[in-house]
Amino acid sequence: MTTALITHPDCLDHITPEGHPERVARLNALLPALEGKDLLRISAPLAEDADLLLAHPADYLETIRASVPKGGIRQLDPDTWMSPGSLRAALRAAGGAVKAVDMVLAGEADNAFVACRPPGHHAETRSPMGFCLFGTVAIAAKHALERHGLERVAIVDFDVHHGNGTQDLVQSDGRILFVSTHQMPLYPGTGSPSETGPNGTVLNIALDEGTEGPAYRRILTERILPRVRAFRPELLILSAGFDAHANDPLAGIALQDEDFTFITAELCGLAAEVCGGRMVSCLEGGYDLDALASSGARHVDALIAAG
Ligand SMILES: [Zn+2]
Repeated sequence: MTTALITHPDCLDHITPEGHPERVARLNALLPALEGKDLLRISAPLAEDADLLLAHPADYLETIRASVPKGGIRQLDPDTWMSPGSLRAALRAAGGAVKAVDMVLAGEADNAFVACRPPGHHAETRSPMGFCLFGTVAIAAKHALERHGLERVAIVDFDVHHGNGTQDLVQSDGRILFVSTHQMPLYPGTGSPSETGPNGTVLNIALDEGTEGPAYRRILTERILPRVRAFRPELLILSAGFDAHANDPLAGIALQDEDFTFITAELCGLAAEVCGGRMVSCLEGGYDLDALASSGARHVDALIAAG
């Protein structure tokens, strides 16, 4: 049984300014923590235009391409920057997610973890935002529906920030269930429980600052798992952010490493029950390097244990 780890060195060429939390050091902390594990190591391919066009309009791709600086770094929004290598890094992240879907649906892997950056869940249909350029998990979900013929895909986003971009990209498609847990109030400010989407396929769960593991586990088992189970997805996609960890500098939720084991194991158990264990997990946030490495390793250990 197999868990795939999908990454690429190009993801180290997305350079952000000194002091920016979404930095090269994140992957340099996480990937060594996954050394020696029983993983099928796969090189992330570049996403093709057709992949990106599943989620974004053509003029947006042109805008992003035209934004690549020849040198130095360029600011796209208050938080989002591009360096000469950023486009290729983002294409590896999206391409890696598409590859993960292909492998899991082909039975080449039981589940997969895509350890690429920049993250994707804040990128909206026509705007980069919050460190993100392309809606990676939304692209992966639409790829599974449009090209593999699946009828229902669920996305669970446990990053501490609301996945506003994913919601924007998928909420009009009733074949996709989008569930996000996030601290409120916190960036980006969206994700009120009243936002349920035009088809009722969005579930936003707001967390109070200071929420600890036991409370989060109850939310997972009492609210998230039943909702996903009732949707009967044929594939489960995770926006795996590790910034709800107690040590993360950007937020105030207090999960510990073992909570990420629990979250992952429970979601894997649900996937085993409803969709043959088929799960694709994509790295989003996580900005304390030690916490990212330790909780990310717990996440991958649980994927391996379930695979
Ligand atoms: Zn985040």
